[in-house]
Amino acid sequence: MSDLGSWRFDTRAIAAGRPHAPGAPMNHPPELVSTYRMGGERIYLRDEGGTLWAAFEEALGSLEGGAAVAFASGMAAVRAVLAGVPLGGVVVAPTDCYSGTVGLLDDGAASGRYRPRYVEVTATERVLAACEGAALLWLESPTNPLIEIADLRALCAGARDLGVPVAVDNTFASPVLQRPLELGAAYAVHSVTKLIGGHSDLMMGAAVARDAEAAARLAHRRELEGGIPGALEAFLALRGLRTLPLRVERAQANAAELAPRLAGHPEVERVRYPGLPDDPGHRLAAEQMAGFGTMMSFDLVGDAARADAFCEALRLITPTTSLGGVETTLERRGRHRGQEHLPPSLIRMSVGCEAVEDLWADLDRALGATA
Ligand SMILES: *Cc1c(COP(=O)(O)O)cnc(C)c1O
Repeated sequence: MSDLGSWRFDTRAIAAGRPHAPGAPMNHPPELVSTYRMGGERIYLRDEGGTLWAAFEEALGSLEGGAAVAFASGMAAVRAVLAGVPLGGVVVAPTDCYSGTVGLLDDGAASGRYRPRYVEVTATERVLAACEGAALLWLESPTNPLIEIADLRALCAGARDLGVPVAVDNTFASPVLQRPLELGAAYAVHSVTKLIGGHSDLMMGAAVARDAEAAARLAHRRELEGGIPGALEAFLALRGLRTLPLRVERAQANAAELAPRLAGHPEVERVRYPGLPDDPGHRLAAEQMAGFGTMMSFDLVGDAARADAFCEALRLITPTTSLGGVETTLERRGRHRGQEHLPPSLIRMSVGCEAVEDLWADLDRALGATA
């Protein structure tokens, strides 16, 4: 679409990837197809994707400022980017990182596929020292679930000097708030399952590459490894993407209201949200993000059992492990195997788009009921 480059971000979210031939439907319908009649540019869905997939990729690519490739899940996208690491290559990754990514790296480490090197992502100099001789620097910011902020610009610049490509898992921020490719990363990776899908009703992923050649390699991985999303998922993800800026704006406003109230609550030990002026990530987040986001964590007074009771006592907010929907959801992260390093009463909350006073009433009542 020729006007795409001249449109602003919010317009691109709505208009990119839209059919524009005379008589075309307003939106690409779910395209139930596995194969195409010979003679055209497409042959088989897993090889080239279809027009609906291409529309989603055009839209997400225009938001991130690169070339997007859609995958069947966030992990399939993570896997495709890691496939570029040579056998036995060092991958530098944050200690506080999505558990699936750590699981994949550790699983690969056992067979010698990767050599992961875990680092405290807020310690920029130490991260760069670990990048010496590495094949890839994997970053998350804000991190899951401690909501720490990495200095993406400094890390990308330092890694470039060392010749190390950088991939940023941008799931928690979304391109509305943070665009890693503009900050110097080679890849931005998404669990589309979360904010981009936005309604807890689909599973999908995407990797966005700064250069077209890298994107072609990702698409080739998808062809060989089979991680193409289904038609209904691609349809719902593009539909979700249309309202991403609106949903993030509203959910973020709710988060900004809830964070200081939780921080002032006698049953809350500590709130981790970069929007709080005394949060360790506040200054950096203000510089590199367009807002402080929709994700926060808080430690309750008391032990793990109390935190579990709190989650169960909520009536509006739903305890779930997933995040990024219009629905506010939360969970005690320490309940998962491999997350024993976290404070046992740490609750990670994904703030949604409900009326904020209803959210506060639910939190305040459950905190009081389990005190
Ligand atoms: C959920 C998630 C993933 C994995 O995505 P799936 O869609 O569940 O495969 C990767 N990174 C982050 C930060 C996530 O929250």
